[in-house]
Amino acid sequence: MKTIIYDMSDPEQAERGYKEAAEILRAGGNVAFPTETVYGLGGWTGSEEAVRGIFTAKGRPSDNPLIVHVCPGMDLSPIAVRIPETARELMRRFWPGPLTLILWKAPEVPDAVSAGLPSVAVRMPSHPVAMRMLEVSGLPVAAPSANLSGRPSPTTAEHVREDMQGRIPLILDGGPCEIGLESTIVDMTVKPPMVLRPGGLPLETLREVVPDLRMDPGLGVAANVTPKAPGMKYRHYAPKAPMTMALGTPSEQEEKIRQALAQARGKKRGVLTVSEHVKDYDAEAVLAIGSLDDPDEMAAHLFDALRRFDELECDVIFAETIPQKGIGTAYMNRLRKACGGSTI
Ligand code: AMP
Ligand code: MG
Repeated sequence: MKTIIYDMSDPEQAERGYKEAAEILRAGGNVAFPTETVYGLGGWTGSEEAVRGIFTAKGRPSDNPLIVHVCPGMDLSPIAVRIPETARELMRRFWPGPLTLILWKAPEVPDAVSAGLPSVAVRMPSHPVAMRMLEVSGLPVAAPSANLSGRPSPTTAEHVREDMQGRIPLILDGGPCEIGLESTIVDMTVKPPMVLRPGGLPLETLREVVPDLRMDPGLGVAANVTPKAPGMKYRHYAPKAPMTMALGTPSEQEEKIRQALAQARGKKRGVLTVSEHVKDYDAEAVLAIGSLDDPDEMAAHLFDALRRFDELECDVIFAETIPQKGIGTAYMNRLRKACGGSTI
């Protein structure tokens, strides 16, 4: 299959892009599109064929459900039922935006979308290209991240091309994703609501509306509990080389990484760091993904860096860590997974 990529910042290509995306979606095909979190691989929620196509293109395990994407004005009643008032309040306050709500599934939604669960994940993305694509097609679009299963989520159209070339007919290029980490998932079918995945919307902000918000115990570092979001149990976001993260203050981390680098001499060594520390490391691949005082910038570039360590064929990788507050909670969740829990 030939994969066409349209640059959506070019008005002519954008017009063709929206038109062709709508045609493909209505016919039960798949389209990759940008959102403010990561790129999604979409298919019409109502088409079993489209939903099957997503799982096949990604090589995704069939027990890992998708997120249904909607745009302003779309009727939620054929998607979710018995929507609690708190969920409506979260929608009013944070949609469009990086918040996915788990709601009771309407019977119209095929079981393949929810992987047989009685609940369904719903989100309204704020990226203008995603919004317009949903609006023009007029369809709710089920989508996971547009990466091959097990690879870091794509945050540029180039990442999508790397993974999906020849597997899907169309990629809408909307530039690099602003947030760069996936949405925050909150389960609204339980009381009090429970966070199943930290993400682009900080927990501190969510607590302004839901003060009694809980965290899924399955997200804990040491816990032997299976996470409630099926996707969180898989080994995700991992570069090919073993990766270890350094704990402590920035200067303690630096010292630990310098020692580890000295011990790993002779190997191709990678370091994930900030611009302020680039010069302090003697290694083959030192990637600065932002500034020490800008965790948003680091979050936006994390997945790209993981992909670059693979390209550079590093043998070992050491990463600095950031405080678990604001976007830092989601950042550290993804980094911990990439490191498989390995710390120094
Ligand atoms: P992705 O967009 O690739 O991050 O995949 C969607 C995420 O949403 C995965 O982690 C899924 O396990 C999660 N998810 C989707 N639907 C549900 C649901 N009904 N209950 C719990 N988690 C869900
Ligand atoms: Mg994913």
